[in-house]
Amino acid sequence: MTKNQKDNELVFLPLGGSNEIGMNFNLYGYGPPDDRKWIVVDLGVTFGDQTTPGVEIILPDPEFIEDYADDILGIVLTHAHEDHIGAVAWLWPRLRAPLYATPFTAFLLREKLREAGLEDVEINEVDLGGSVQLGPFDIELLTLTHSIPEPNGLAIKTPLGVVLHTGDWKIDPDPLLGEPTDSDAIRRLGDEGVLAMVCDSTNLFVDGVAGSEADVRVALNKLIAGLKGKVAVACFASNVARMDSVIRAGQAAGRSVCLVGRSMHRMAAAASSVGFLKDIEPFVTDAEARHLNEDQILYLCTGSQGEGRAALSRIAEGTHPTVSLGAGDHCVFSSRVIPGNEIPIRNLQNKLSERGVRLYTERDHPGIHVSGHPCRDELKEMYQWARPQIAVPTHGERRHLEEHAAFAKDLQIAQTVAPRNGDMVRLAPGRAQIVDEVPAGRLYVDGGMVTPENGEALKERRHAAANGVLMVSLALDGRGRLVSGPQVRSLGLAGDADDPLDEILDELADEAERALKGVKGEALEIDDAIESAISRAVKKAAQRVWERRPVVETTVLRL
Ligand SMILES: [Zn+2]
Ligand SMILES: [Zn+2]
Repeated sequence: MTKNQKDNELVFLPLGGSNEIGMNFNLYGYGPPDDRKWIVVDLGVTFGDQTTPGVEIILPDPEFIEDYADDILGIVLTHAHEDHIGAVAWLWPRLRAPLYATPFTAFLLREKLREAGLEDVEINEVDLGGSVQLGPFDIELLTLTHSIPEPNGLAIKTPLGVVLHTGDWKIDPDPLLGEPTDSDAIRRLGDEGVLAMVCDSTNLFVDGVAGSEADVRVALNKLIAGLKGKVAVACFASNVARMDSVIRAGQAAGRSVCLVGRSMHRMAAAASSVGFLKDIEPFVTDAEARHLNEDQILYLCTGSQGEGRAALSRIAEGTHPTVSLGAGDHCVFSSRVIPGNEIPIRNLQNKLSERGVRLYTERDHPGIHVSGHPCRDELKEMYQWARPQIAVPTHGERRHLEEHAAFAKDLQIAQTVAPRNGDMVRLAPGRAQIVDEVPAGRLYVDGGMVTPENGEALKERRHAAANGVLMVSLALDGRGRLVSGPQVRSLGLAGDADDPLDEILDELADEAERALKGVKGEALEIDDAIESAISRAVKKAAQRVWERRPVVETTVLRL
């Protein structure tokens, strides 16, 4: 054994997905601390919310690992959900490591890369149950079940032990499409000895089991068979088994199926590329659907989370170009409410109700949706199969990770470590522990630009949204004498009968002129000095009027 080998360590480093559900970005490192080789497992996004106006996509910040980009042996993608592959097209140019994915995931990823102008980036396609050798990492793919085709767990074999990285999973005895969970392979791995299991925590607080897609198929069949009028069903397009169930339920009820929404078409194409959705009747286009009797049509729609631009929201608004729903029609939500989306979903459902559309959700119609993540009984079973020495909870918020660690302890797992993004966990040699803390932030995609978390643009936009904007303009001659203005215009500020807005703006213009008079001497030749003096004065005056501080932008024009 050389000196170097003696120093070898195996570390796990989440840079996204630990302390949150979303944005998964996991790294494994092997080697001495000053010369590690890395693999990346998943590179996903998370989504903006009301606190990030105008920012829909959020990426993990790869700053730390970018410095070691040459030592990244590969990026292995477990499955095609956005929180696992969504950041690849954004961040690949900064990492430039070979990509590995199974065929369905590769199909969707290829499309994303093409859209980003990265069509030349090669994806190494790995068969289901196949393996990938990357330096000291010998990676075996394990077929699991989830809510998308081809969910893979990874058995990552290294000279210092085996890590079972579960990815997202549940135990579905009848997933409809694809194979059931390969429990034999996991048990075998357990027999050989698993050092650590890095495991999904999403449903840690839910007792029992997630339930099977096969049961959802029965429930949907029964529900849709009894409906008269137009039927719309909203579900995640990526859940191809669910799509398949809805399509078959529609067909059984004598309805033709029309896909509504871009991602439905995209997923249908990806699904048929790997042999799914084959023995069904052809879809009808929205144009064809309009000529059908309302009892003969089923719309399969995107937008179950109330996403503003998705098909269902536009249908609810009455702005969809080809699909309309009204009194006597039905909308089935074969989906769950993702935490954070409660308000947009409620708004969407109220708008549909307003139109007279009858709604069906998993709350009032249990069985029309099941989760894709393991509940407590399934987690217990997985621990019994794999029998790891170390439990590393991931894919959860802090409360999930802490509870998962306690749960693993109760199952007699010898060691538990629940890292936060940026915590480097040494899995071997020695007891598992956090040995380093590295930068692990977020990047916001803002109008197509990749910007720092809470960057200037977003801060200004938030401030403007809450406080309004005032624009002051004035023209001066070269010596600083007023030629025209000041003129004040506003955005997002109100007046009323006692204080009409145009009068307020005139007063603010007077305030600006007074501020200009206060600028003396050489400062009169400096635009910046004049602009900031005026902005300051107008902001102060505005605060007296509205009891808030609008954004004030002053522009001096020299004539
Ligand atoms: Zn997933
Ligand atoms: Zn996930």
